[in-house]
Amino acid sequence: MLIRIRSLNKSYYSETKTITRALEDINLDFKETGLNFIVGESGSGKSTLLNLIGAIDTFDNGSIVVATHSLKDMNLKELDYYRNSMIGFVFQELNLLDDYSVRENIKIALDINSINNEEIIDEVIEKLGIKEIENNSVKNISSGQKQRVAIARTLVKDSRIILADEPTGSLDSKNSKEVMNILKDISKDRLVIVITHDVEFARNYGDRIIELKDGLVIKDIEKGNVKDKNLKSLSKNLIEIKKLDEEVVNKINSIKEEYNQKVYISSENSVRKVKALFKEANFEEVKEDNGFKVVEPLKEKMKKESIKKSKLSIKRLFSLAFNNLFNKKKILILTSILMILSLLLYGVSEGLANYNKVDSYIETINKDKIKNINVIEMKNKDKYQRISEENIAFLEEKYPAINIAKEYLLPFKLNLNKTYNGSKKYTLTGISEVNNINAYGYNLLSGKSSLENYNEIIISEYLANVLLKGEYFSDIKEINSLVNKEISLNDYNYKIVGIIESNYISSLTEDERLNNYLDIRDNLVFVKEGFLSNYINNLKYIDYSLDVYLKDDSSSYNKEELSLANIIFDDYSSNNNLDYTFFKEEKTSLLDNEILISESYLENNDLCVDVCDASSFINNEFVITYDSNVVYAYNNYTVVGTYSYVSSNRPIDSNLYSNSIILSSSLKEKIINNIYYNYELLIGLSNSDTVNEDFVNDVYNLGLSINKNFTSSYDKYSEIVSGLSDVLNTISLIMLAVSIVLLYSFIQNSVLISKRKIGILKSLGINDLNVFTIFLVETLLVSLLAITGSSALLIVISPIVNLIVRGNYGFYFSAVNISFVIFLKLISITLLVSLIALIIPFVRFKKLSTNTLIGSR
Ligand code: ADP
Repeated sequence: MLIRIRSLNKSYYSETKTITRALEDINLDFKETGLNFIVGESGSGKSTLLNLIGAIDTFDNGSIVVATHSLKDMNLKELDYYRNSMIGFVFQELNLLDDYSVRENIKIALDINSINNEEIIDEVIEKLGIKEIENNSVKNISSGQKQRVAIARTLVKDSRIILADEPTGSLDSKNSKEVMNILKDISKDRLVIVITHDVEFARNYGDRIIELKDGLVIKDIEKGNVKDKNLKSLSKNLIEIKKLDEEVVNKINSIKEEYNQKVYISSENSVRKVKALFKEANFEEVKEDNGFKVVEPLKEKMKKESIKKSKLSIKRLFSLAFNNLFNKKKILILTSILMILSLLLYGVSEGLANYNKVDSYIETINKDKIKNINVIEMKNKDKYQRISEENIAFLEEKYPAINIAKEYLLPFKLNLNKTYNGSKKYTLTGISEVNNINAYGYNLLSGKSSLENYNEIIISEYLANVLLKGEYFSDIKEINSLVNKEISLNDYNYKIVGIIESNYISSLTEDERLNNYLDIRDNLVFVKEGFLSNYINNLKYIDYSLDVYLKDDSSSYNKEELSLANIIFDDYSSNNNLDYTFFKEEKTSLLDNEILISESYLENNDLCVDVCDASSFINNEFVITYDSNVVYAYNNYTVVGTYSYVSSNRPIDSNLYSNSIILSSSLKEKIINNIYYNYELLIGLSNSDTVNEDFVNDVYNLGLSINKNFTSSYDKYSEIVSGLSDVLNTISLIMLAVSIVLLYSFIQNSVLISKRKIGILKSLGINDLNVFTIFLVETLLVSLLAITGSSALLIVISPIVNLIVRGNYGFYFSAVNISFVIFLKLISITLLVSLIALIIPFVRFKKLSTNTLIGSR
């Protein structure tokens, strides 16, 4: 015996809670061979029975034992293995994989077991007469041929049990006969159970016919059995009762109980001749007992058969996944493109976010071989600040290979002979204290590069041109001739010892170049180190219009009320061209709180319009500011007098004196130090990229900044980029979300499209893990495509973006910074997206029972 079914019940519960009892208390045994037909009206439970035997559906109670394996006790995986090793399905409708050839459809049955045996396939193909069509796609063969292919598939697997659900349902009579002959033939050495509507076939071919009605077995006829009018379904499970006494009834009841089955008793001729049919039990020995025959049940042994694990080869898994993929080209392309684009966008946004201005400064400095930069204190944006001596000392000590020069704003006034740029007066920005300009990477055009005295200066080509155009020297028309000539700056004479090359913007014309310097350095003069302290020592006045505020009542401090004035120190020897009016006694030197105010200043500020004396000023507070910083202030000042400018032979600016205030020279250092401070360092970079890199990083670690012609552009770029990166990031995340939905629907779609295919595979015994693997491989293939696509594009696009941005800015730097981390992020995001998209369809897929999958065919 191969299959023993006992008290099998199966009901379907519909959504309206009506119960369909598809099978009721079924008890059936099947031998190891033979062609068994199941007949009955539609809805009688035939398919249900077949599906339960094939373990593609579950039952409510009872048992099915196949070759000693109880289906009830098997888990899903074991049921997969059971189907794989025992069952071959042949369905009326097509259960072949459409995308595969006849031979491949047969071969898949072996693939599932990782068996490669072409001979057996040849043999079976030969046997079933489908040799000519073995390489045809199953789409292009007839229904009869398809049935043969399905049978062939069960044969190569050597299935012990072949379950066929109306295999001839769609065939003409000739083909039907042929298929039946094949089934008959193969039933000689295996069990074949066939559902059919064709009772004629069943009678002609069947070894046994089981008829179902409303889920009950109403007939079970085996060929060669005695026909009995009253007991239609007589088999050998029969006892003959001569006398139906109490003892006999007890015996019958005990047998009934033992086998848990129904007993049919019929009297044929007389009451004394009673026949009892035990529906399922077999009796082999007949004994005389109590005047009636008792037959002992035959305990037919069930042969144990081992169950093989199914395993789909990796190659076939991939081939199935590929096959699935390319069946859905449109959605595949759409999904991939969207994923690639969103990943690319994400990558670019990350690349932009990776932009770091300091890194870009360093990259530019090193790649563009920049020789010098400036370091500034920029805590307060747009405003120069003093660089602390500690910071300078720290940098000087740590970087001996780097040259550090201090720069000061010091407006040097130059008087030209010819109007230049609208004026005969030209003001230079300041000074840079260096000993040798070579260390700062400047190109010397003429003269020497070192400065040995405080009266020596090195000027720029630009400034040299200003001197030529302004005809400072009426006889000099050529730059080189300026070397060793003296010029007067703020009344002092300096000797030009060298001229350095200027970096003009190449697009400017010769004339335009004279009005535009690219680098602030062009408008500075280079002086020997220590120049400024020497300069201050000799300074008699501050030729600067400082904001001066005289607070003469209780009004509050108001910057608007400040009036511009120059500050002169009370050095009489140099100020002898002034006409003084002292209110009290005449003074030769001033105290710290005493001031003299020029008459023009008083006039300009509407102070003591009529008479001027000590009482004109209610002295309260005196404030001098420069560039919005208070450089000096004191309470209770005293105005000791006024003065006016008397013209003299000295070629000094009368404006200096007319709008000015005289202070005690003892205040000189305090005030000057607040005006002329080291606001910028000129840095002569080293030849080593790493030293420069460390230096720049240290500058930023100290809270200082780099200033060079590219830095402000880069800072602006940095702002644009961080905004842009956020926007791109958001867009890319939205796109990624859309990709998830798309990928989800792609996989969902894939599950649906493949449902039938998977049903077929599962009916062949492929396990859930393999099915999951197919989807996983499919998803991974899409992911791989997305990752490689987007990475490749990113690798190609970012240098192009960099080139474009660089072109716009004119310097070397990386606008989009691609890093290994970005690729890692791309990979993890894709995998995450895939996983999210994969999980829901798969969970839903898992929920569908195998039966429903096949039902969807
Ligand atoms: P047959 O194969 O003899 O036509 P079936 O085994 O398919 O009969 O069906 C037996 C009974 O169970 C029928 O009444 C059918 O409507 C019902 N049935 C079958 N499958 C389902 C199902 N999946 N859900 C609900 N009822 C079902």
